[in-house]
Amino acid sequence: MNANRVKEYIEKGFWLKKTYGDLVQEWAAQYGGRLAVRDGDDTMTYRQLALYAERLAAAFLKKGIRKGDRVLLQMCNTVTIAPAYFGLFRIGAVVIPVYPALRETEVSAIAKEAEAAAYLCTEQYLDFSYRALTEAVCAAAETVRTVIYEQELKEYCQDASLVLPDGLPAPAFDDTAFLLLSGGSTGIPKLIERTHADHYYSVRKCAEICGLDKNSVYLAAMPLTHNFFICTGLFGTFCTGGTVVMSYVPSPDELLRLIDEAHVTMTSLVPAVAKMCLEMQPIFAEYGSDSLKLLQLGGAVVEPELVSACESSFQCRVMQIYGMSEGIITCTRPDDPADAVLYSQGREISEADEIRIVDENLCEVPDGTAGELIARGPYTVDHYYHNIRPEKFTPDGFYRTGDRAVRRSDGNITVLGRMDAVINRGGEKITPAEVEDALRKHPAVRDAVVLGHDDPDTGTAVCAFVLCSDPSLTEQDITAFLRGGSLAAFKQPDRILFCTEFPLTAVGKTDVKALRKMLDEVKE
Ligand code: AMP
Repeated sequence: MNANRVKEYIEKGFWLKKTYGDLVQEWAAQYGGRLAVRDGDDTMTYRQLALYAERLAAAFLKKGIRKGDRVLLQMCNTVTIAPAYFGLFRIGAVVIPVYPALRETEVSAIAKEAEAAAYLCTEQYLDFSYRALTEAVCAAAETVRTVIYEQELKEYCQDASLVLPDGLPAPAFDDTAFLLLSGGSTGIPKLIERTHADHYYSVRKCAEICGLDKNSVYLAAMPLTHNFFICTGLFGTFCTGGTVVMSYVPSPDELLRLIDEAHVTMTSLVPAVAKMCLEMQPIFAEYGSDSLKLLQLGGAVVEPELVSACESSFQCRVMQIYGMSEGIITCTRPDDPADAVLYSQGREISEADEIRIVDENLCEVPDGTAGELIARGPYTVDHYYHNIRPEKFTPDGFYRTGDRAVRRSDGNITVLGRMDAVINRGGEKITPAEVEDALRKHPAVRDAVVLGHDDPDTGTAVCAFVLCSDPSLTEQDITAFLRGGSLAAFKQPDRILFCTEFPLTAVGKTDVKALRKMLDEVKE
């Protein structure tokens, strides 16, 4: 990052001269016997979190893991994931959080690209055993010398003979803490270097805006190996002394039960999971707790109908949040007017964030006009690991998100989708979100995804994937419904495919790649 800007971030107090290894000890001193994490009967206080992190750090050293080593961490949401993170930070190892759903192709490629030295892994999750996966990754990436399974980590946490030696080379606040995975829906994720200082700044800002405090109970509903849930969720709760409640599976019945049982005050969901929770609402009604105050929705486009349905069903405030592992985060504020919460993803979390909405020549467009969102600031990277894909950054250090967005006159930003999702049918531009909104207005349509695809006649045609609650509904019924509405004729889908459910990615977003494959199979 540009040295002048780093100087400014330090001077203005955005970057603290602390590492996550320092912070876990600070939190232990501050919050001591308060509950940091809970997973059923398995609990950990702040004091224990710091102690276990220290024991794990000592165990990692014994296993040959050193400062600067890159370590894959592919663990599910259990209590042990917390000291595992901080044990690695304590010795200055660089953590690569890997979603539990990633498999051999992706993990091996990530391990090779990062020249990872070690692999911390859950042994079994639901019906999948990770043993064969770790073996395959070690065979593919020969730098991976050490594999440690969760059971072993648990034993180290209880081993009082594990003590950190004196004179350990300490990591610095501006050293790399994480190599996060980029969220692209295609190909192998890119690696994103985030330092202790820049990452912790985003954590503090999110915690402040969400109003987290010692009485907060955060439900970790989604994988704690994705930055959305690491940032506001796990670390945000820790920095304010609250409690993180682990959900082992992001299934609606489990989430709704935990909200009730653990008196959860806040959680974060991707839209697909939020929709599933809403469908279980009749069961939720039986639960008595009204503890939930704030529900964060983000990670993918959130429709206004989903926001209002969640607010009325769960009797809580919704916060729309937009962000990415590369850094920049915007969100609505709990006291924003309804219009902003329904129709926008809010504004920058830091006064030092710089967001520009630009045209194809990187020139800023006026408010109200759609363009690509580019961003720079105290926690947004200006290059990828190994400087791959330099075209994703402007010469003056802005990250090109590839997201299409518009700045409203009230300063809030509305994200419209991916730049490359805009369908160009014979010169006419169609934004999928518009067609999806029109489809969702049909009373029997539960959800819709619209994609452009190659067509020999028009160049590009429009396909709508529809989730429908009425099995007798036909393509003709939907077409007739759209014709009767306000959608322009040229935006009508050429093809409608009915689905029973949408395929989801490793972090619960709609898997567009899988939908394209489905379409190719139907076309053949
Ligand atoms: P990831 O790095 O996995 O968090 O993915 C980041 C990408 O997810 C962004 O570049 C957006 O394309 C998408 N995204 C995240 N939050 C939102 C949101 N609230 N609305 C629309 N797209 C979103």
